[in-house]
Amino acid sequence: MLSHLWAVYSHSGCEFERGSGCWLYTSNGDSYLDFTSGVAVNSLGHCHPALVEVLSAQGRKLWHLSNLFPVPEQEIFASRLCDLTFADKVIFLNSGSEAVECALKLARRYFFSKGQPERHRVITFEGGFHGRTFAALAASGRKSHLEGFSPQMPGFDQVVFSDPSAVSAAIGPDMAAILIEPIQGEGGVRLAPPAFLRALRSLADEHDLLLIFDEVQCGMGRTGKLFAHEWSGIFPDIMAVAKGIGGGFPLSACLAVSSVADAMTVGSHGSTYGGNPLAMAVGKAVLDIVSDSDFLATVMARADQLRYGLSALAERRSDLIEGVCGLGLMLGLKCRIPPSDLLRELFKEKLLALSAGVDIVRLLPPLVVSESEIDQALARLDRACVHLLPKRSGE
Ligand SMILES: *Cc1c(COP(=O)(O)O)cnc(C)c1O
Repeated sequence: MLSHLWAVYSHSGCEFERGSGCWLYTSNGDSYLDFTSGVAVNSLGHCHPALVEVLSAQGRKLWHLSNLFPVPEQEIFASRLCDLTFADKVIFLNSGSEAVECALKLARRYFFSKGQPERHRVITFEGGFHGRTFAALAASGRKSHLEGFSPQMPGFDQVVFSDPSAVSAAIGPDMAAILIEPIQGEGGVRLAPPAFLRALRSLADEHDLLLIFDEVQCGMGRTGKLFAHEWSGIFPDIMAVAKGIGGGFPLSACLAVSSVADAMTVGSHGSTYGGNPLAMAVGKAVLDIVSDSDFLATVMARADQLRYGLSALAERRSDLIEGVCGLGLMLGLKCRIPPSDLLRELFKEKLLALSAGVDIVRLLPPLVVSESEIDQALARLDRACVHLLPKRSGE
């Protein structure tokens, strides 16, 4: 059939009609175990009853107002976020790219307000992914994503991941900020070592730079802490959050300390949809659940179970899998075979997963995944590997 959609996506597999928890269902009743969570978005699984409830209740009350009028739910949600994080100020937006874009604008505006408008450059990292708008594209620096969209937005200096001396060498008089994902998602589930994040904090303090964390993928409970940087014991000045924060409702946020956020004044930024009542109701409900310490402890327990099972699998199938990477429920299998081969076999076993980087199969189960669902996923992974093993006599 002729499609009238832009051909920018290569869909795989089948059409899903319905979702519940960690499961997706096709119209003919097949069920798939979803370890993609809509790329870390459906943090509470599909159609979580509490979210369905608040969404429908808010849907009967008020959908959209614009920011011409105060949205009281923004105030409540923002104060909750600030209680739980380093931040003092929040703006609500609609997508990860927008949150990153806003963080970058804030960095420039901050130095402008300090009378140092020449400080506008940002250090970013190889393998980073920050979105598809012009600034986010330039920050990510991926050749394939930039192709055909020249001229590239200037002002970004990309250095190797996890090397403080490379960062140090890139700092000049016009430098404003360092932008990093505490765990690279698209780049291959690569963890920035806590010591590296601490080194970035020191460098930022020493050179009066802003430290910006992109926690669009790794934040919102994914690693067993509300935000991944909490594992390192240091804090950014600005943070972009999206994906899991809305549990499937489009929502993002840019958080900052007040000394930086105060550079933004009336009219300096805005968004028509940003912080609309529907998004606020759902986002607040997600946060109430995810920020609970028992909930986060359960995420950690599931993460340990999955990681243990994956490590055992990697040992058993060492001709296919080299090892396990990641943190919490953001895990990757480093493959010796093309990840697409493993993903294809997993699909046949009705386990949905993602690729990342060049050689990683990425697993992002909903944070509500149960012990038995993890066991089922591990069994499916094992069967998929068996199908991929080179045929040997006696097997
Ligand atoms: C997905 C992602 C983005 C972009 O989010 P969109 O909602 O697609 O604009 C930015 N940063 C990171 C780390 C991401 O994973």
